[in-house]
Amino acid sequence: MADRYLSFTGTAPGRFLTRRLGLPQPAALSRRSSRHPRFEGTLLHLTAGKSDLDPAPVLARTGLTAGSADPVAVVLDATGVRDVDALAEVHAALHPVVRSVAASGRIVVLGAPLDPADHHQAAAQQALEGFVRSLGKEIGRGRTVNLLRLTDARAAESTLRFLLSPGSAYVSGQVIHVGDDEPTAPDDWDRPLAGRTALVTGAARGIGEAVAETLARDGAEIVVLDVPSAEEDARRVAERLGGTALALDVTAADAGVRIAAALPGGLDVLIHNAGVTRDRRLVNMSAERWSSVLDVNLKSVLRTTDALLAAGTLRRGGRVVATASIAGLAGNAGQTNYGASKAGVVGLVRALAPRALAEHGVTVNAVAPGFIETRMTAAVPLFIREAGRRMNSLAQGGLPVDVAETTAWLAHPASGAVNGQVVRVCGQSLLGA
Ligand code: NAD
Repeated sequence: MADRYLSFTGTAPGRFLTRRLGLPQPAALSRRSSRHPRFEGTLLHLTAGKSDLDPAPVLARTGLTAGSADPVAVVLDATGVRDVDALAEVHAALHPVVRSVAASGRIVVLGAPLDPADHHQAAAQQALEGFVRSLGKEIGRGRTVNLLRLTDARAAESTLRFLLSPGSAYVSGQVIHVGDDEPTAPDDWDRPLAGRTALVTGAARGIGEAVAETLARDGAEIVVLDVPSAEEDARRVAERLGGTALALDVTAADAGVRIAAALPGGLDVLIHNAGVTRDRRLVNMSAERWSSVLDVNLKSVLRTTDALLAAGTLRRGGRVVATASIAGLAGNAGQTNYGASKAGVVGLVRALAPRALAEHGVTVNAVAPGFIETRMTAAVPLFIREAGRRMNSLAQGGLPVDVAETTAWLAHPASGAVNGQVVRVCGQSLLGA
């Protein structure tokens, strides 16, 4: 279902009318494509406080040119902000430049982990979250603002490249923590998944199909898993991507065993994308409606992850990316089953991530999509759909490719220091913000 309002506000009369009426002003987002793989232009690197970080070499490798004229990206290193007075330097650094940041440009604030032994540092660093989220809500013109907490710029290279690229068009208002594990730089940053195998569940259509396409673009050998009734579509996707299809219901008790059997050479990237909704208010919800959603969205994710880790199918350096939802973070009327299942995914990710990394060398993260334009959301009644589209800082719905690009960053071989994160792909939705 096309976003006609977005097209209308892209015309001169549409812009004039909607401005006069005080209506939302979505800007067409500059997304990644084969002709536009990265931003070209100026990157402005600023510092607030006394920083020990040296992000300059990593920033130089983004391909952007260091400078200050009409920047397409601004990186403010605020890791050295240790008290409230130093926060004034954050204001002083960004206040004069915000207006000049290009449409669809990026602002990334670098922060330090909160120091539990220093409540002045913790207050100042936590303040950055409120700052970033507020700026994200007011900046407009398709520009995004995110906070990256880190201690080692090299470990955060894949994350910085993602946040400073057109791939992160629908990621705004996020706080991402990156550890300091030694990164594995790929041979080729344009095909980082070359030689790796990725399995995407529910990939016959929608977001899963976009994820499969994006991981294939990044060089992965793709296995397109979907239910037997969607086998034809799964084969079509697999053929297009030069991969294979696996017809399997993820709720089958032996799903893990069957996936392991289909992948004798092992697996590097496991994307849990298959998901269903069966909405009713709790008073009208049958036990069957409840359990069918919990089974697909949560139980199967737990069961297959456990099975593939235990069997050693997921190789060291492997990546698991599960799919939560902002409905799991904020809750949504009529979705107690879905909200519970997606919140459960968050719990699974946070608890398993440190253990999976320590014991198996595998990272575990989640994407939490907001309103994404798919068949699932096209079926939502008109007024609720319009509200879902507009109630975010970018005033529009995301596209499946936005979730796919975020997934590809988490699946990246150089993202080993990104673990246990739940990253919203929601244009900074007001829900659960
Ligand atoms: P979709 O309905 O278009 O696609 C889901 C796919 O999963 C389908 O191909 C379906 O056949 C497959 N699937 C369902 N049950 C399965 C099972 N038991 N075994 C194997 N495959 C199964 O949905 P979508 O909009 O592309 O959503 C993908 C994921 O993103 C889901 O987990 C969904 O909950 C989540 N999500 C979507 C949105 C959105 O706005 N579309 C928002 C938040 C979260």
